[in-house]
Amino acid sequence: MIEQLHANRDLPDVDLKKLIETSLYDQELFRHADEVRREYYGTDVYIRGLIEFTNYCRNDCFYCGIRWKNLKLERYRLSKSEILCCCEIGYGLGYRTFVLQGGEDPFYTDEQISEIVAEIRKKYTDCAITLSLGEKSYESYELFFRAGANRYLLRHETANAEHYAKLHPVGMSLENRKRCLWNLREIGYQVGSGFMVGSPFQTTACLIEDLRFLQQLRPAMIGIGPFIAHRATPFNRFSSGDLRLTLRLIGILRLMFPNALIPATTALGTADPQGREMGLRAGANVVMPNLSPVEVRSKYELYDNKICTGDEAAECCACLSRRVRAAGYEIVMDIGNVRPLKEQLPQNHKTREKV
Ligand code: SF4
Repeated sequence: MIEQLHANRDLPDVDLKKLIETSLYDQELFRHADEVRREYYGTDVYIRGLIEFTNYCRNDCFYCGIRWKNLKLERYRLSKSEILCCCEIGYGLGYRTFVLQGGEDPFYTDEQISEIVAEIRKKYTDCAITLSLGEKSYESYELFFRAGANRYLLRHETANAEHYAKLHPVGMSLENRKRCLWNLREIGYQVGSGFMVGSPFQTTACLIEDLRFLQQLRPAMIGIGPFIAHRATPFNRFSSGDLRLTLRLIGILRLMFPNALIPATTALGTADPQGREMGLRAGANVVMPNLSPVEVRSKYELYDNKICTGDEAAECCACLSRRVRAAGYEIVMDIGNVRPLKEQLPQNHKTREKV
């Protein structure tokens, strides 16, 4: 099965189900995944400077600690000059990608976001600007793109509509999430998507649907992490997603999407102190250290016990460099673009799904 997945970048649903549900093939899977990541990226691990600039959000996703209904959370917003200061520190440390991430916060108008993006673009012409601001209109995405943003992260979280409805309040829909992703691609962004592993009510069939959706979307970046409950959410009594299953899915993703940028996420490091190192060995090739000011870090609490909330940017970077090296790889200070596929995907892959 693993050899077939490696060669064809695909497996029938029945085999994917077997592979997802057993740890029997894990070692072989990780060996093949590492071979593919080295074929495309050698030992390079790309680094992205994460700037969490607002923890206000108008949404109420049931799994998220910064949902608006969490009235106990102390909220913050960074000003344009504070965001630019984070970029300056990051640039000095060697970062060549900045990720501006926040809840869906209507306080920042499209014009304000565009101004911030344009200012970063003007100062750092050799950097990629990634936005992660949630669902917006086509016109807003286009405006940000014209201002100089070139990447956008928007996880679909689950590609099963019924499951999506169990994780989100009325008014949010998988249809709109997918529409946003297709719009981003059409505008010309390098798109990142992904899903939670072990979220409440998730089944193996849901995970297979996630993989099938990603085969249609073919994002440049795929971020997955285990579900971790937050105490102030309706899901506070659900147990966390399984670390081994998350690693297995990273391995599967590497074989299905050989050239993808796959982060070893903070959630992996929260699930296990060695989680990010394990993620890298399973096929991940990106890490995202935090560049946000230390005083706001703990307030961007998507889930309980989130790690890396106390270190200054330089310490965070040094710590990750050590961890990456210990795992057998090397951080490279590079813009970190996706490498081209060595050959076309097999013809039987579906292309675009209209929504
Ligand atoms: S997951 Fe994103 S959109 Fe949903 S509540 Fe959290 S920050 Fe807001």
